[in-house]
Amino acid sequence: MNKGLLIVISSPSGGGKGTILKELFKRHENLRMSVSATTRAPRPGEEHGVHYYFITKEEFQKNIDDGAMLEYASYVNNFYGTPKAPVEAWLNEGKDVILEIEVQGGRQIKTVAPDCVSLFILPPSLEVLEERLRGRGTETDEVVRKRLAQAEGEIKCLRDYDYTVINDTVEQAVADIEAIITAEKHRVSRDETIVERILNHA
Ligand code: ADP
Ligand code: 5GP
Repeated sequence: MNKGLLIVISSPSGGGKGTILKELFKRHENLRMSVSATTRAPRPGEEHGVHYYFITKEEFQKNIDDGAMLEYASYVNNFYGTPKAPVEAWLNEGKDVILEIEVQGGRQIKTVAPDCVSLFILPPSLEVLEERLRGRGTETDEVVRKRLAQAEGEIKCLRDYDYTVINDTVEQAVADIEAIITAEKHRVSRDETIVERILNHA
């Protein structure tokens, strides 16, 4: 059995990751979503263990010290990180695993898992990004401004990524991501034993 595909998805806050991934998960049962740990407070409706593991700074630091994080980063005054164990287990079971993480974490994953595929979701423009972020209504005005300021720097990291997807309509963005995943899974380098398997059955 081939190992699953590790898929990194980043975008500025409000870029549409959550919305797009929800649609993608409805359609693909081989996908698994890594649940990150964070020190930020839960938003209304967010559940511990479902959207994030909401932990203290001390607990977060202990996870780092124990080597339990695949990557981690500080983002707008909070820590975010990917617990290593579930990701490794799913990949070994042949599941495709999505990490919805910011750019510093994306860079770390490219180093520890160079065979991952990384996608950057872009809004059609910065104006649309601001409209969507404000329209979501989940952050205070101050946090929205910090996230928008962060967005410009993040977009400059686009060149660290393998693919870009423009989130104009959700439907098209989902179709683009499906196409990218399908193409990646067909790379010859991802199936080293295919020639032997086919010839041995001939
Ligand atoms: P992220 O998870 O990247 O922070 P969200 O998925 O929460 O972003 O999207 C931010 C806001 O923009 C949400 O209110 C969402 O409903 C809206 N949104 C996302 N994609 C689109 C789109 N293609 N067209 C219109 N609104 C969108
Ligand atoms: P939010 O607070 O909006 O849920 O997330 C803020 C940012 O942190 C987003 O860009 C999100 O992708 C990123 N993020 C979420 N989980 C992780 C993680 O485990 N590691 C890293 N590096 N970034 C994360």
